[in-house]
Amino acid sequence: MSAHDVYDRDYDGPESGPELECADCGSAMELVPAEESQYGRPFFRCWRFPDCYGTHAAHPNGYPVGTPADARTRALRKRAHDALDPLWRDAPLLYGVDALDPKKVRIIRGRARRRTYEWLEERLGQPAHLGSADAALCRRIIFACSRATPESIRAWAHAREAERNAPF
Ligand SMILES: [Zn+2]
Repeated sequence: MSAHDVYDRDYDGPESGPELECADCGSAMELVPAEESQYGRPFFRCWRFPDCYGTHAAHPNGYPVGTPADARTRALRKRAHDALDPLWRDAPLLYGVDALDPKKVRIIRGRARRRTYEWLEERLGQPAHLGSADAALCRRIIFACSRATPESIRAWAHAREAERNAPF
C-alpha cells in the first residue's frame, strides 16, 4: 500500500489506522475505535498509555485530523482556537439578531467564519489550519486575534468588497 492510500480521506481501514507517531514520546499510536472511546468517536492514543497521555483526533473513518502535536503545542492550538472562534461566533451580536432565529444566526455565523479565516490567512500570509499549526504559528494567530473584533473583521471584509467593486 502506498502512502497515498494511507492518507486518502476515503480510506477506511485497516483496523489499527494509519501509522502515527506520538508527538510527546515518539512511540507508535493506536486507533481507539468509537465503541471503546469515551468521546463517542475514534481517536489515536499513544501505545505507551497510561505511561504517556499523548492523543490525537481521528475522523470517523480512522483518518488522523491534522498532524499530531506535543502537549505544549496542543495547549497553544487550543488557545489559538479560543482567540479565533469568538471572532466569528459572536458576529450575530453585531446585527442585534434575535437569538431565537437560529436560521439567521447560522447564516451570519457561516459568512463571518469564512471572512474571519480569509482575514487571518491574509494576516499570516499562509493558510490557517489550526489542526496542523506549530507553536510559532499558534502564537502569531493568538497575537493577530487579540487585536481584532467581529466588527473589525466585518469592516475589513466590507473594505475588500468595495475595493473589488471599484471601477478602476
Ligand atoms: Zn507517547
